[in-house]
Amino acid sequence: MIDVLIIGTIGYDTVETPFGKRIKALGGSATYASVAASFFSKPGIVAIVGEDFQEQHRQLLSSKKISLVGLKQIRGKTFAWGGKYEYDMNDAKTEFTDLNTLLQFDAHVPEEFRNTKYVFLANTDPVLQLRVIEQLKQPEFIIMDTMNFWIQTKKSELLEIIKKVDVLLMNDGEARMLFNTLNLLQAAQQALKLGPKFVIIKKGEHGALLFSDGKHFNAPGYPLEVIKDPTGCGDCFAGGFIGYLAKENKKDEATLRKAVIYGSIIASFNAEEFSLDRMNTLTYSEIEKRFTEMKEIMEF
Ligand code: AMP
Repeated sequence: MIDVLIIGTIGYDTVETPFGKRIKALGGSATYASVAASFFSKPGIVAIVGEDFQEQHRQLLSSKKISLVGLKQIRGKTFAWGGKYEYDMNDAKTEFTDLNTLLQFDAHVPEEFRNTKYVFLANTDPVLQLRVIEQLKQPEFIIMDTMNFWIQTKKSELLEIIKKVDVLLMNDGEARMLFNTLNLLQAAQQALKLGPKFVIIKKGEHGALLFSDGKHFNAPGYPLEVIKDPTGCGDCFAGGFIGYLAKENKKDEATLRKAVIYGSIIASFNAEEFSLDRMNTLTYSEIEKRFTEMKEIMEF
């Protein structure tokens, strides 16, 4: 039995930041999100990889007790992404996106996953996100994420899915792009009109905003001294967020606010190292310690 179902990409990332470069390192939205969620709950992944997917990476996911029953491996290459960060580490410039085996994915949800209550549609082809929703029996809370690549290529499909989810999660640049406005409040209001009960706008290292009808919560980013690679922070945020909600099995505003803080904390750890290196060594007690520090930071 899993607590959180996550569909997204598993990929090999080639990333350059002012602090170094990694070639074909483990990445992908489902990878980061499921590892983040695993600190609170038991996640299961629906994703596809190619024959180049390494056994050590399968083992890393298994070691976090992530169910891989929905992980398909076929001939061909695993999804690959290349990105570069300049000194503004909030903004990745995509250098290439090789969809590879993602183009052959049917997003089949294994029977044993179909009753999962908490679902995260991580960044991937919106057609696949929709296919997952259609196979679910009684989802109670669906969160979705996306990025500029899909806003530019599949905007109408994206808008259809937004109508079916409980939480829309995007970064600030993507919210501006999708809703055609410079004002984040206006973007959130437009998103809420489409149907989601909550909208979360991530602002990179500056934290996240949670909007619901008539209310809003502003979570700061954890002040980090070392940021080496922000790749996957958005996915870690989301994974931590939904993992915490599933653990509490609650969806009220107060629990969502705490979940935003846990999401920000997991994302802050992730940025300290390249790829999943920091997530791999992270412990629950480190998360709790930072949660207490965040409480102090936010008190006035
Ligand atoms: P983020 O949390 O936004 O930094 O997401 C970074 C991850 O997204 C990387 O590990 C990439 O492999 C993955 N990614 C990049 N482009 C795409 C895309 N178009 N669709 C799905 N995943 C992507």
